[in-house]
Amino acid sequence: MKKRSVYIIFFVYISAFIIGLAIGKFYAENNSAKAEIKSQANINEKEEKRIENISNKDHKKHYEQKLDNEENKKQKEDISVSSDKKDIDSINNKKVNEIIKKSSKKIAYLTFDDGPSQDVTPKVLEVLNKNGIKGTFFVLGSMVKDHPELLKKIHDDGHAIANHTYTHIYSRVYSSPEVIIEEIKNTEKVIKSVLGDDYNNKFFRFPGGSFGRPKEIKAAVVSSGYNYIDWNCLTGDAEGKIVSVERQYQRFLSTCKNKKTLIILMHDGKGKYTTPEVLDKVINYLKEQGYEFEVLR
Ligand SMILES: [Zn+2]
Repeated sequence: MKKRSVYIIFFVYISAFIIGLAIGKFYAENNSAKAEIKSQANINEKEEKRIENISNKDHKKHYEQKLDNEENKKQKEDISVSSDKKDIDSINNKKVNEIIKKSSKKIAYLTFDDGPSQDVTPKVLEVLNKNGIKGTFFVLGSMVKDHPELLKKIHDDGHAIANHTYTHIYSRVYSSPEVIIEEIKNTEKVIKSVLGDDYNNKFFRFPGGSFGRPKEIKAAVVSSGYNYIDWNCLTGDAEGKIVSVERQYQRFLSTCKNKKTLIILMHDGKGKYTTPEVLDKVINYLKEQGYEFEVLR
């Protein structure tokens, strides 16, 4: 009887020990899992903060770039030439200024990008011709290929035709100096195939403007004999799919204020249906204000 009790006590001790071990192990594992989850959560939080920081930096950069852009545009309002001759913009602007007439008169250059298109170009021509005014068309080689008859009409009506790349695809156009030159040359080639080899306009407009484009890209354009030109006034017809006539006209009035020489950006590309109507209002305003009209060639 006594021996049996000893066995029972021994058995109870051993069982308690094993159960104790098991419970201890369970808690230890549980805690370690919790710690792991917590540490993962910390990592996630850090990662989120890092992403947030990058995103903030991006926003800041974007915002600063926007300010820079506006500042740059302001400086370009009078298309002035900087004294730094090494700067590619200065070299280009000097050439542009030699071509743009410098007079005491108020001069407006009406410019149309991204055409010629069946949608818009004939109506733009109608408005210009009705008013007896000449404009400058920065055409795309790919559009000229599809609508040679429209290019011919622009030319025959006495307007100027300039270069705006072949494809207008940013990822291609800005991929290297060689590619942008190829885009310009191919556009020149297709224009010449319609108008003949006498065509010799060396004005070029960068898709999206010249601001912030790599120096080597700009240098390639200049060394290939072209002059790039932006704008200092716009109707904002590309700032949305279809922008209302009133919104465009207000945008034009606010950006053209107090400028003696106006280089006005508009678009005769696909779908810009409101542009011809805005153009009529723009021309009336400019005539009233005593502007004369010139073309870039
Ligand atoms: Zn464009």
